[in-house]
Amino acid sequence: MRIAVGGIHIECSTYNPVLNEEKDFRIVRQAELLAAPYFQFLKDYPATFLPTVHARAIAGGPVSRATYDKLKTEMLDGLRAHLPFDGLYLAMHGAMYVEGMEDAEGDWIAAARELVGDECPISVSYDLHGNVSQKIIDAIDMFSTYRTAPHIDVQETMQRAVSMLVKSLQTGVKPVLLWSPIPVVLPGERTSTEDQPAKDLYARLPESDKVDGVWDSSLMVGYVWADEPRATAAAIFTGTDEAVLRQQATQLAQAYWDARDDFVFGCPTNTPQACVAQAIASPTHPVVLADSGDNPTGGGVGDRADLLAELIAQRADGVIVAGITDAAATEAAFNAGVGATLNLIVGASLDPSSPQVSAAFSVLRLVDSAIAAERQAVLRVDGIDLVVSARRRPYHNIADFTLLGLDPHRAKIVVVKSGYLSPELAPIANPNLMALSNGVVDQFVERLPRLRKTRQTYPFDQGFSFVPEVFLSARSQPKA
Ligand SMILES: [Zn+2]
Repeated sequence: MRIAVGGIHIECSTYNPVLNEEKDFRIVRQAELLAAPYFQFLKDYPATFLPTVHARAIAGGPVSRATYDKLKTEMLDGLRAHLPFDGLYLAMHGAMYVEGMEDAEGDWIAAARELVGDECPISVSYDLHGNVSQKIIDAIDMFSTYRTAPHIDVQETMQRAVSMLVKSLQTGVKPVLLWSPIPVVLPGERTSTEDQPAKDLYARLPESDKVDGVWDSSLMVGYVWADEPRATAAAIFTGTDEAVLRQQATQLAQAYWDARDDFVFGCPTNTPQACVAQAIASPTHPVVLADSGDNPTGGGVGDRADLLAELIAQRADGVIVAGITDAAATEAAFNAGVGATLNLIVGASLDPSSPQVSAAFSVLRLVDSAIAAERQAVLRVDGIDLVVSARRRPYHNIADFTLLGLDPHRAKIVVVKSGYLSPELAPIANPNLMALSNGVVDQFVERLPRLRKTRQTYPFDQGFSFVPEVFLSARSQPKA
């Protein structure tokens, strides 16, 4: 049994103007792909896996057209070189946007289908924050997506996708694939599977997997910061009994729709101004304040200084701000050296429309690296320790702070560019607040322009009715 493997994994806010180039991806090719930690599970299958290319990047803006074309060509060339093979597994995220191209996964997956021909089954794994289209469904045979957010079942999801493919090849059974789009698209922060109603909705999936005729039950939240026609939640089912799959998809779509008003943020939210005031007044510490509109792991730019400006204006002290992407400020700190005082403008290093702060900073600490993009500096202004970094990156793990000589446990206020808190920061938050700050991943999605929406979609539209409809994959249609 010979199974080819490839894919591309990125989440792109269409509101983010900063392009992703090849340098922004971690790319594994050929033998490197099979050696990558997240593909080690392939060793457990009685199949020969044929690696092509897999590219991953943290969330951000659009992928540049040249980078996309290059990676896609590389995967197609890799597939061609391995022909013939029995099946194809594509490990995707699902929320890619390419300069001037909507439904980019549709383009990528359809190109793979065209190359492998009609006979070759294709199984795809996804992030539940991806978007699906009829074009994607029509090109594939099996589909599975994460069931947890924050994502702690990445490996299991990839296994489900590959297990179905191996099962199909071993038994000769060609499964049916169908989906039911749900006209709701909400931020991940309102649909965490640790909170209701998502917790119960996702708890239904292992149960429906057990129903005879069902191979996989998938529920997509969708990606809201994609102003594209395809942005939607969806129930997607793979299996052998079309009637059962239709019934399961309809029930799940209806349940998600019925719960739409119940999806709320898992922590208190407020304006940045009110959140900073609340954090200063808090009798307990550390307050972990999420600057949610500029979260790089959700597709934010990560270079905005508006929360910093608010903290300075309200004279907050005992604060760690981690961090702001600003290569020029980082470079200036390195040039000046520890102990120096610098007049700096911080912010808007990538997106010229991002807010800035101009102040005198002292250089507290420098974290050097042979790679210039990995450099970081800790600057101090008033009672605030500010981390600046040369590249876009999150500070979501305790080690990200300790490496910089900072102890988030001992701070009064820790400001991170994040949506819901990471598994390491959530337990130390006392309490956690989320600022509904501006940015290209604004959590207050109703205030974002929605120019490419082609149908009524909650929460942008309200008060409309919906009856679930099920659409078969073209490949599952009875042959004429
Ligand atoms: Zn996700």
